[in-house]
Amino acid sequence: MNRTILVMRLADMHKVHPNQDNSFVCSRCQTQVGIFPAGVRAIKAMPDTKIVCNVCHEADHSILLSEPVPGMFEDLKDTVKKQ
Ligand SMILES: [Zn+2]
Repeated sequence: MNRTILVMRLADMHKVHPNQDNSFVCSRCQTQVGIFPAGVRAIKAMPDTKIVCNVCHEADHSILLSEPVPGMFEDLKDTVKKQ
């Protein structure tokens, strides 16, 4: 089974991680998203991970999401207000 992770659109992020990766896009709408280091590690470990942005998930709650990836909550502590 594929893993599906929920991520924020870059434009919707109020807080960002200094080492986040902004090179990914939502698998549904192709909008640019920001992914924290823990998410990037998870994607590299499981390259068929599906990325769904907050807007697509809001529009379709039938999308099943996987558990938060390991390290995600630690990353949250390191976020800073977006300039
Ligand atoms: Zn989307």
